[in-house]
Amino acid sequence: MKTYFTPGPSALYYTVQDHLRTAYREQIAAISHRGEDFKNLYRDTQSNLQQLLGFSDDYAVIFLPSATEVWSMLISNCVAKKSSHIVNGAFSEKFYNTAKTMKVPTQLIEIDHGEGFQMSGINVDEDADLIAIVHNETSTGVSQPLEDIYQLSQASQHALLAIDGVSSIPHPDLDFEKIDCAYFSVQKCFGLPAGLGVCLVNRKCLEKAQVGAGERALAAHQSLPKMFELATRHQTVYTPNVLGIYLLNAVCKDMLMKGIDQIRRETEYKAAVLYQTLSSHSLLQPFVKQPEYRSKTVVVGEMENSKRLIEYLSSKSMVVGSGYGQFSNDHFRIANFPTHSKEHVEQLADFIAAFE
Ligand SMILES: *Cc1c(COP(=O)(O)O)cnc(C)c1O
Repeated sequence: MKTYFTPGPSALYYTVQDHLRTAYREQIAAISHRGEDFKNLYRDTQSNLQQLLGFSDDYAVIFLPSATEVWSMLISNCVAKKSSHIVNGAFSEKFYNTAKTMKVPTQLIEIDHGEGFQMSGINVDEDADLIAIVHNETSTGVSQPLEDIYQLSQASQHALLAIDGVSSIPHPDLDFEKIDCAYFSVQKCFGLPAGLGVCLVNRKCLEKAQVGAGERALAAHQSLPKMFELATRHQTVYTPNVLGIYLLNAVCKDMLMKGIDQIRRETEYKAAVLYQTLSSHSLLQPFVKQPEYRSKTVVVGEMENSKRLIEYLSSKSMVVGSGYGQFSNDHFRIANFPTHSKEHVEQLADFIAAFE
């Protein structure tokens, strides 16, 4: 059987098969999203996510079809004057492009893809309503240290700080007091089938949306005040991915049982094994040169004609990702998600070490 180390979708969390069977038996996909069973599922999922990630009651948990939907939702609800985008890769750039398409004034703060930001050099415009940053650039394997990101909240008193943690959450131990929004998609670190985005927003986001909502035309189904109010009653605007929410809840419980500290420690150990393997190989190297900016969850390597390595690993039933966009021939990307066991990662590392 193949093992998927692709950076999302990726290998399913190892308990998902059992949960799918249970969901089928209990007819989860048939329950009404207006009924008590669904409300209880929503409440339970919120509570388990809260325990896992550590956000306060000030936050609402909002379910959307994907992380990409979060971008337009935040722009249309939370930006009256301007959104500021910190861009160092394809995903941060996509958010920026969403804002441009929606015709809001933007501030672009950009550096070379593959590098982390020196926060002292970043000046956010005074009139910014929203600061968008990617914690973990899946396209290049750059991760910005959290302490740096928190400094942004001091950069502007009234701007909201929104963190794209799509390919890192639940690994970062986020301080939710220092940010206003964090979001992720379940097909990355949670090891679930795609089709569910989770957006955590605090009351500051809601307040901004209540003020700004009149100014920008909102698609009714993307109104944050409406979604926030419904979320407090464990309801959604439209029929959500109930099966996806059920599986997310089940995997959250499994992760809590294992312990988030244990998951974080294992992630760091496996990342160290992978970076060590790349660094000591004569044909390849980590793409991100400064160790403090290297992602723990998406390890990106650089080499000439990376297809050769990808095909070699595939012949060993190990599926790793190709380079993203402009880097398709020069990079390979390895997901190091909670479902990837130490044994699997060590085996992958051994194969890479033997590659010639
Ligand atoms: C995958 C990814 C997204 C987009 O997620 P979708 O579920 O495809 O909408 C956004 N940001 C980052 C960093 C990602 O890795």
